[in-house]
Amino acid sequence: MADERLQGGCLCGAVRFSALPETREMGVCHCSMCRRWSGGIFMAVACNDVAMAEGSVPGVYGSSEYGERVFCERCGSSLMWRMRDGSHSSVSAQAFDDPTVFTFTSEIFIDEKPDNYSFADSTQKMTGAEVFALFAPKQDPQHG
Ligand SMILES: [Zn+2]
Ligand SMILES: [Zn+2]
Repeated sequence: MADERLQGGCLCGAVRFSALPETREMGVCHCSMCRRWSGGIFMAVACNDVAMAEGSVPGVYGSSEYGERVFCERCGSSLMWRMRDGSHSSVSAQAFDDPTVFTFTSEIFIDEKPDNYSFADSTQKMTGAEVFALFAPKQDPQHG
């Protein structure tokens, strides 16, 4: 079932998409940029291919030299972080029509997590430095 395209969209429905998740696992990013951008904690699913529905034109904000963030210009929903070169896309788990198909397995930039919250689930936790090292020489796939 991992090769099944899943449907998703924003709060108002102006942006609809389909995506092919790499796995049925979701991770969260605790970095300050993701928290501010998502208005919470960015729970994301790595996807190999994301296709916008016909007529769906999301906003794109370049948040770093290599990363950009995709959102709905009408309702403001955070939809996706991706590499500008298209090599990686992390789609918001909560933007999918059925987010319950994903298992919560990892937390990254744990060193940027504020002390006033934490998740009880057992997950693999990585610091920002560990994430950068893991994806070297590629740049961090979910930060910036
Ligand atoms: Zn919308
Ligand atoms: Zn982040």
